[in-house]
Amino acid sequence: MARAVIAYLLLVLAPSAVLAGLAFRAAGWDRERGLEELAARARNEAEALARRVEAALGDAARRAREDPVSGYAQDGRWLGWSLDPPPPDDEAVASSAEELRLFRLSLRGGESYEALGDPARALDAFSFYLARIRSPVLRARLTFAAGRAALAAGSEALGRALLERVLGEAPPEACEDGLPVGLLAALRLLEGPAAGGGEQGRLRAEARERLAAWAPRLETGLLERLGRSIAPGDRELAELIARRRALEAAAALRPEVLASAPAALAGDALLLAEPVPEGLAGPARGARSIRCARVALPPLEAGGLAARLEPGPAAAEASTGRAGSPGPEDSPGRAACPVRLGPEGPAVARVLVEDPAFAAQLEALDRRRALLASLVGLLLLGTLAGGAALAAYLARERALGRLRVRLLANVSHEIKTPVTAIRMLSEVLAHDAPDAAKASRYARLLAAESGRLSQLVENLLDLSRPARAGEALALEPVDLAAVARRVAEGAAAIAREEGVAFRLEGVPPEGGDGSAVEAVVAVADPAAVERILSNLLDNAIKYRRAEGPEVVLSLAAGPGEARIAVRDNGVGIPRRDRERVFEELYRVRYDDYAVKGSGLGLAIARRLARKLGGDIELESREGEGSTFTLRLPREARREAALEAPPEAPGEAPGEPPRPTGAARGEGGSP
Ligand code: ADP
Repeated sequence: MARAVIAYLLLVLAPSAVLAGLAFRAAGWDRERGLEELAARARNEAEALARRVEAALGDAARRAREDPVSGYAQDGRWLGWSLDPPPPDDEAVASSAEELRLFRLSLRGGESYEALGDPARALDAFSFYLARIRSPVLRARLTFAAGRAALAAGSEALGRALLERVLGEAPPEACEDGLPVGLLAALRLLEGPAAGGGEQGRLRAEARERLAAWAPRLETGLLERLGRSIAPGDRELAELIARRRALEAAAALRPEVLASAPAALAGDALLLAEPVPEGLAGPARGARSIRCARVALPPLEAGGLAARLEPGPAAAEASTGRAGSPGPEDSPGRAACPVRLGPEGPAVARVLVEDPAFAAQLEALDRRRALLASLVGLLLLGTLAGGAALAAYLARERALGRLRVRLLANVSHEIKTPVTAIRMLSEVLAHDAPDAAKASRYARLLAAESGRLSQLVENLLDLSRPARAGEALALEPVDLAAVARRVAEGAAAIAREEGVAFRLEGVPPEGGDGSAVEAVVAVADPAAVERILSNLLDNAIKYRRAEGPEVVLSLAAGPGEARIAVRDNGVGIPRRDRERVFEELYRVRYDDYAVKGSGLGLAIARRLARKLGGDIELESREGEGSTFTLRLPREARREAALEAPPEAPGEAPGEPPRPTGAARGEGGSP
């Protein structure tokens, strides 16, 4: 058995366990590989898309550098559309202090008259010193003021002539309230009633030219307004304004470009910021020129995966430091890749790719792993179950082997003795012609020995076919006192012969009035009960002590059950054997004891007792004696009937004992 177990462990269980372990690990690897594949796919798609976006950005950057429309910023603030210094002070343009004094005098005087509502005098005041003023800027300003006053005073021709002169001669720095007087003059001329036909066309062309020269200094809103008056519908101007508006909107979206970022993606526009060369910047030191170009972004499509573009350097840096390597936000179903402007350029956005089917794919991978694991588990369970079945089979084989050895040892001896006795007695009877008394004694002995033999055969048949024991059980209400008396009759005779004291307890004498003692009735087969009790009594006499042996048969009624006990003061049964004596063919080995037996009696007795719905219990003390108690279920209804008048149905007191195969006084049990 041990060898079989070791072989099973080494050749079956251990290899199966190793294989199962490998299969479990392989299932884990399979899942990991699946996850890696998903991750690589998302990564590759993100990278490919990022490269496509980068190509579009590079294209837009080239166009932006060629675009003449550029704004300027400094220290994060918008400077304007040109780096020209602001209009110079009056002192700076005046050629002499005298000239400046005369200019201011004329201007103040004229403006005072204008305020008083006297344009004629204002015209005088403005033009009084005009001839002595040389500085073109101051001259242009005074001329413009004089023209304005002349128109107000109703000198239409003079006013227009003065304004035309301003339009033709005013240098760009000549400003009134920050607006170039040349342009202001053009506006007045165009609005005036006198202009018409070809005159209007000439004026417009001239004013348009001024506007173009002045455009870089004008903020977009003003340019737009002037454009509407001077050159309505001018395509070139409209386009310039549209580009400026786009640049302004993009810069509003990405103000960081005005401060420090070299480039940024704002909506579908690319903003580029470049430091202005020192010499060019003049007073605006550290200024940055800001340009803008529309980007034709490629379709955000990544091989069936969901993709989106997140603009902004912060987003780009969040994804990763280097293109292509997985960023911190990456999960197997999600990948991010930065988008750069040129190979070493700044990161302006990032591409995010997500696999919408990732959860489902992960679930499929998990399901596959679980399936594999349960298959391996089943295989292992099967191996273990096979091992258990094998062990059970081997144990049964061993038990059968033991049984065979016991059978041969017990039975061969049990057969040999009566057969020898029968042969010898029959030889004596055949040859010696004994007298009648002897012959009758020999005949009794022959009957006893053959009875023993037939009982043995009976028991062996019961053993060979367990179902046979009690096959013919005929259940009926049984008065246990009557059965006890019948069995006691035979046992008492044997006890007498063997010198054993035998008595009954709790069994009313046959034909007694029964008034004091309650009738004990069980539903049972009387023959089976007799066979059990005979066996117990046989054993009690067989395994007696040498001196003062005693056997007691007692009957007692408990709640719902009857107890018939066979008590002896014999050799007793060791504790370890107390349950085993009920096994088939099991016999206790007593050192100084040579009682014969087959080891079948108790096994058959218990089997019968259980078939009757009861059992046999054993209490014993080594060297002091044993008590075997047969418990049987009682039948209350029948008992009540039996306790009634003496003529009540039941077993009549004088009735002969029912013949049974088991309970026959001498030679009953082996
Ligand atoms: P057998 O008596 O033929 O050996 P049994 O099945 O009747 O077989 O009994 C089994 C064993 O139980 C006996 O061999 C004996 O060792 C032990 N035994 C049974 N009854 C008693 C008893 N009253 N006192 C001591 N031992 C007993």
